[in-house]
Amino acid sequence: MAESKCPQCGCRRFYVKNPDDAYDIYEFECRNGEVCFDEGVDGDSCPEISDGTETFCNKCAWHDQFSKIK
Ligand SMILES: [Zn+2]
Repeated sequence: MAESKCPQCGCRRFYVKNPDDAYDIYEFECRNGEVCFDEGVDGDSCPEISDGTETFCNKCAWHDQFSKIK
């Protein structure tokens, strides 16, 4: 299975924004298509990530729907 990574820079770390608070971000790594939030991120408060969730690359300016990195 192909590794999920940024189509622009190849970075595997991404983040999503809290739909209720754009200054609140949740970093995660995509391993085998699975979203793995960073340690220390409160799993209960994480937004649900679906194919259409706006996802941001941690390294470059790329952002698009989550389904684009799979
Ligand atoms: Zn990138």
